[in-house]
Amino acid sequence: LFQSAPSAPLDPIMRLFEAFHQETRPDKINLVVGVYTDAQGRVPVLRAVQEAERAWIDQARPKQYRPIEGTAGFRSGVQRLLFGENTAVLQAKRAATLQSVGGTGALKIGADVLKQLLPDAIVAVSDPSWENHRALFEAAGFTVRSYPYYDATRQDVRADAMLDALRGLPRGSIVVLHACCHNPTGNDLDPAQWRAVVDACVQGGLVPFVDMAYQGFGDGLEEDALAARLFAEAGVDFLVASSFSKSFSLYGERIGALTLVSSDPGTIGRAEALAKRLVRTNYSNPPTHGAAIVEAVLQTPALYDAWTEELAGMRHRIHDMRTRLVQALDAQDLGRGFSAITRQKGMFSYSGLTPTQAEALRARHGIYALDTGRICVAALNPGNLPRVVDAIADVVRG
Ligand code: PMP
Repeated sequence: LFQSAPSAPLDPIMRLFEAFHQETRPDKINLVVGVYTDAQGRVPVLRAVQEAERAWIDQARPKQYRPIEGTAGFRSGVQRLLFGENTAVLQAKRAATLQSVGGTGALKIGADVLKQLLPDAIVAVSDPSWENHRALFEAAGFTVRSYPYYDATRQDVRADAMLDALRGLPRGSIVVLHACCHNPTGNDLDPAQWRAVVDACVQGGLVPFVDMAYQGFGDGLEEDALAARLFAEAGVDFLVASSFSKSFSLYGERIGALTLVSSDPGTIGRAEALAKRLVRTNYSNPPTHGAAIVEAVLQTPALYDAWTEELAGMRHRIHDMRTRLVQALDAQDLGRGFSAITRQKGMFSYSGLTPTQAEALRARHGIYALDTGRICVAALNPGNLPRVVDAIADVVRG
């Protein structure tokens, strides 16, 4: 039977992730995967998360099945985070949120919903994008195209080219947009560019699918929600995939949410029922632990305050590492500047390293970065920064 299974190579991130784990040099450094580590190089367990977990265990609640869509407290907490307290879209009951298996699960259930409703639609993803976007939408049966996004020479967003491409898409096409902290480049649209993108989607009858994997890592929880809020105000049908992997440091708990927003409150129930049916026929209902933590933090003012403070701490630490990285690289006089790295947001940075340099970084120094030159700046700390800088300088010099 399984002899006929097609060979299915892992994507480059997972391939290098596995290679890193097999690497035997003790001073190896992983700049491949999008995981935030603190100044000591540890994946933090946030204080708010620890308190929520402790309270949950003390209550000794029965490990019942959860509702297919998740609990009401989780769902309303997510909606408040996305759209703000009592905003028009929530008052009009135009949004339905379902708990998902991480941000990836939200994208997949959303893709399956869209496949049922728009079976022949084209999906457009940014060039470049997170590797799994194309694979996931193709796996859901769509034809995937890309729209221009990044100009490697200017190391900035190609907003005009992006807008032209969006305007050229057939009506009913699905556009996957990174809400903030664009993965892999770190280059985001500014508010004026977002307004133009929203306008292009509205005018062109496109279906936006906002991927919000890093809310709070860019400029702040409110600022990073701009795209979702603009689409809500524009009154279009759209989807949002939220991930709490990074913002709560809950990677392995696999917790996220899919939010469907309808222009018409009369149809949101149908949309939700379809998504629930897809969950039911995939894995029946979602897991408890991560959702219970996120719900407790979002619904308990003291925990919420502690969380936003820790989140700001993570955001500021990343920004600080960007600044220090650029200062240290520029001090090496490598014949090129690195200041673009400080303009980027979130965990990742397109460093400008070539595939050959990334390969040399792995081979000579045991420092793992993607061949595209993407590095995870959230994995840098004062302890490993000097070695990373020396190694980059070495491979850039050739
Ligand atoms: N979208 C983007 C752009 C991401 O970078 C990631 C995580 N790397 C995800 C979605 C998926 O997040 P999760 O781990 O919660 O599935």
